[in-house]
Amino acid sequence: MMKDNIEQIEQRIQAACFRSGRDRSEVTLIAVSKTKPNTALSEAYELGMRHFGENKVQELVQKYEDLNPVFQEKVHWHLIGHLQRNKVKYIIDKAALIHSVDSLRLAEQIEEDAVKYNLICDILIEVNIAGEDTKFGVTAEEAIALVSEIQKLPHIRVRGLMAIAPYVENPEKNRIYFKKLRQLYVDIKTKNTDNIDNGNNSKSNHYLTSLEQFNILSMGMTGDFEVAIEEGATMVRVGTGIFGERDYSVSI
Ligand SMILES: *Cc1c(COP(=O)(O)O)cnc(C)c1O
Repeated sequence: MMKDNIEQIEQRIQAACFRSGRDRSEVTLIAVSKTKPNTALSEAYELGMRHFGENKVQELVQKYEDLNPVFQEKVHWHLIGHLQRNKVKYIIDKAALIHSVDSLRLAEQIEEDAVKYNLICDILIEVNIAGEDTKFGVTAEEAIALVSEIQKLPHIRVRGLMAIAPYVENPEKNRIYFKKLRQLYVDIKTKNTDNIDNGNNSKSNHYLTSLEQFNILSMGMTGDFEVAIEEGATMVRVGTGIFGERDYSVSI
């Protein structure tokens, strides 16, 4: 069952890459395992999954502690849900990538904790690309400003952008938002290049270092990942398509 699911998702990813002239290796599949028990994650691991996405800090920490001995450090954990500042310390050494940075205050907290743990933290800026009231994330304009502020923090590497598109029956309706996020991503990359060309002080060098690896576009879920790939996604976050429907009444 899960084997068939993963095979199907994999085939659809390959087909979307082919349609858009992209190489399969450009797209990372994140298995979104929130609400699912450890047995499901282990099964997915056996089937080749190496990236897991969780939206709650406590759940990520619990699963990390339970499963890392089994996964033997081969798994990358992604925090994809909203992050409160007082919880940064619990996941900073566990999450390979935090997808949901949406304020300078949060970034400053991450910087502070990264110093304590003596590590460099990879993050994405979450953009509320459709301007929905119900969603976290910054506007496109705010994202540009936020990236340049965060670049000044030496223990954080801004790796790219993330967005959660609206829930739609027809994934084509989200194409416009994926295009928008991709354009914003290109604009930020370009603007940064301008900074480097125009300046010759040490700050410009820092910009060069910190945005060198600005190369992740996290967008697309079970309902719309193919359109997201066609529009340039480098990470797709698929939960239901791999693990089946979630039951939020069961607590882990
Ligand atoms: C739950 C979740 C997903 C996966 O959703 P599916 O529709 O089940 O694929 C992806 N991204 C985020 C941020 C989520 O919270």
